Amino acid sequence: MLNVHAVNAFEDNYIWLVQSEHSADTLIVDPGTAQPVLKKLQSLALMPVAILITHHHHDHIGGIEQLRQCYPHLPVFGPRQEQIPDMSHALSEHTGLSVHAAFPAMQILDTPGHTAGHISYLLDGKLFCGDTLFAGGCGRLLGGTAEQLYASLLRLRQLPADTEIYCAHEYTLNNLLFALSIEPDNQALRDRFDHCRQLREQHLSTVPSRLADELATNPFLRCDQPGIAQQLGNIQDVEPLAGLEVFRRLRSQKDVF
Ligand SMILES: [Zn+2]
Repeated sequence: MLNVHAVNAFEDNYIWLVQSEHSADTLIVDPGTAQPVLKKLQSLALMPVAILITHHHHDHIGGIEQLRQCYPHLPVFGPRQEQIPDMSHALSEHTGLSVHAAFPAMQILDTPGHTAGHISYLLDGKLFCGDTLFAGGCGRLLGGTAEQLYASLLRLRQLPADTEIYCAHEYTLNNLLFALSIEPDNQALRDRFDHCRQLREQHLSTVPSRLADELATNPFLRCDQPGIAQQLGNIQDVEPLAGLEVFRRLRSQKDVF
C-alpha cells in the first residue's frame, strides 16, 4: 500500500505526494508550486525520487524548476504531446512503466480532452487524473475536444469500481450542486452532497473519491442514463440524445453554472 499525502496549493489545488510502502521515497504529482511541497517533504522526512505531470497548465508544472534546483537529479515524467519544462521522460499510453524501484509498475492512460495531450497515472489502484475527472465533475475543455474528453471519461469508467480517484482540485461541492440540478432525485447524489458538505465544513478534503461513487453520482459519467438525457433534451430533439451530445450539453451548462 502506498501512502498518499496531500499538499494544498493556491486556492484549491492538490499536489499529491505518493510515498512508497517501505521507505521515504516519494513521487510528486503535478507540483504547481514548490514551496509547500518542500515544506511537506521536510516535515515528513520524505525523499522525492520523481515528478509526474498530467498536463501543461501552470498550476500543475509551476514548481518543477525550483524543485529541480533543490533536487537536481529528479526525473520529470510527463505527456509526450505537451511542453513540460525539464521533461526527461515523455509518456503516452503504456502498461507496466517502472519509474523507480521503490514503486510498483504503473499504467499510463492517454486521457485527452481537458488539454490535447493530458495523461493519467494508475498505480496500486490509485488514479492520478489531473484535471480530467473530478470528484462529482470533470475538467473544462481547454485545448482538447468534447469527443476526446467524453472518450477519456468512458475509458476511466471501465477501471475497477474501487479505484481511488486523486484529482487535482477541490471542486467537489460546486460539482455536486450542479449534479443535483441535473439529477435532483438521485438519492446517492443527495447523500454524497450532504457528506461532502460536512467534510468541507470541517475543512476536510473530499478527495480521493471512489470510482463506484463517481459512477453513481457524477453526471459526466452518467451521460447514458435516460433520466439525464431527458433532462438535457429540448423540444427540437427528434431522437433521444446520444451520450456524446448529452456530455456536450452538460459541459456547456456547467461552464456557466
Ligand atoms: Zn488544467
